Amino acid sequence: MALALPETLSPSKVSSFKDCALAFRYSAIDRLPEEPTVAASRGSLVHLALEHLFEREPADRTPANAVTDLERAMEEFREEPDFTGLDLDADAEARFQIEAARLVENYFEMEDPTTIHPIGLELRLEADLGGLRLRGIIDRLELDHQGGLVVTDYKTGRVPGPNQQQARMEGVHFYALMCEELFGVRPASVQLLYLSGRITIATEPTEQATNALRRKVGALWQAVETACEREDFRPRPGALCNWCSFHAYCPAQGGDPSLVGTAVDLAS
Ligand code: SF4
Repeated sequence: MALALPETLSPSKVSSFKDCALAFRYSAIDRLPEEPTVAASRGSLVHLALEHLFEREPADRTPANAVTDLERAMEEFREEPDFTGLDLDADAEARFQIEAARLVENYFEMEDPTTIHPIGLELRLEADLGGLRLRGIIDRLELDHQGGLVVTDYKTGRVPGPNQQQARMEGVHFYALMCEELFGVRPASVQLLYLSGRITIATEPTEQATNALRRKVGALWQAVETACEREDFRPRPGALCNWCSFHAYCPAQGGDPSLVGTAVDLAS
C-alpha cells in the first residue's frame, strides 16, 4: 500500500529529504514527534525577539529596546513545548538566555534596524507550483531603497564554509520562488544573516536560478511520490544523525522501524 503524500513542501522538508529520506518520512509523513534541541529553541527565541524589535517604529529599534524585546520574547517562549521540553536547570537556563542575548547584540553590528523597511514579519506563505503546495515562513520581507523586495532569513547556527554557502542559500531562493509565484515579482535580493559570526551572505536571484529551482523542486517532488508509491525511504547516516530524533526507529542506528506505528498512534 502506498504511503500518503505530504500535503505541502517547505524548504526544511526539501533539505530533509535530500539529507536523509527516512528522516523525511518520519517527520513529514508519519509526523513523529521530535525532541526540541537547545540550539533550535535558542534560535526560535532570538527570532521572536527580533520580530518584536521590528514591530517597533524605526527610531525605537535600539539596542536597549532589543533587551526589553528579548525579555518579552522569553516570557512568551517560556510556556512553549520547545522550551519546556528542554527541561533546563537554572544554570542551563541562564546560559540559554545569555547566548540568546549575545546573538541579539551581534545583530546590531550587522545592520542598522532603523533603516530597514519591513513589509512582513514571520510571514506565512503558501503557493501552488504545478499541483505541488509550497509552504514557508519568511523571517522578514522588506523593501530596499529602490522599492525592490528583499528576503531576509536570520540564522543562529554556525556560519557555513565557502563550499557550503550556496547550498545554505537554497531556503531563501525557495522563498524568492514563492514571492514570484504569489506576487508576480522576483525579489531583488535574498540574504542570510548569520548572527553568531556577524556575517551576511546575500545574492540576487536571477531568472535562470529561479527556473532551475522550480525544476529542482518538481524533480524532488517526483522523487517523494515515487518513494511513497514504493514505500522506499532509505536511511542515509551522516552528521545529521547527531541531531536526529528518530534513532529508536532507524535501522542504521540499531532502531526498530516496526515501532513507528505505535509511536504514531500515541502521538495522534
Ligand atoms: S538517525 Fe540518521 S540515518 Fe537514521 S533517520 Fe535519522 S538522520 Fe537518517
